[in-house]
Amino acid sequence: MMQVLRGELRERELPFTHQREAIAQILFESTRHMSADDVAAALRQRGEHAGKATVYRTLALLVELGLATEHDFDEGFKRYETQVGAAQHDHMICTECGQVSTFTNPELDRILAEVAAEHGFEAITRQVKVFGTCSETASCRDAQQAYRSVRSTS
Ligand SMILES: [Zn+2]
Ligand SMILES: [Zn+2]
Repeated sequence: MMQVLRGELRERELPFTHQREAIAQILFESTRHMSADDVAAALRQRGEHAGKATVYRTLALLVELGLATEHDFDEGFKRYETQVGAAQHDHMICTECGQVSTFTNPELDRILAEVAAEHGFEAITRQVKVFGTCSETASCRDAQQAYRSVRSTS
């Protein structure tokens, strides 16, 4: 990945700075869906320093180079994940704690392909986002309970 990045930067005559490398490294090594703040926090943990603008610019550059994917999960900020080597997957987003989990389902793939074909549509890429509450933390479970009781009384 780093090799690809280095090559792409050279081609565009952009400098391969230490900061860019550190930011890319953090994202490439992570299996999470990181916000710019997450990346900045991880940088600080490594004792690296980069301004917020540098983090944003570098993440945008990685997306532009096709090395990362940008997601908007309606949280008011973007999240990023590495593109290369990442299998196609869909996302579940907890609106309580912000945890993003991933899933794959061949049946869902088949249905979406079928729907596209029915509409004479050639699908290039797709994204399924499920919003709700996870069961990881106590407050998430409380929220789940609350949603369920609202649903059962209506
Ligand atoms: Zn949660
Ligand atoms: Zn993902």
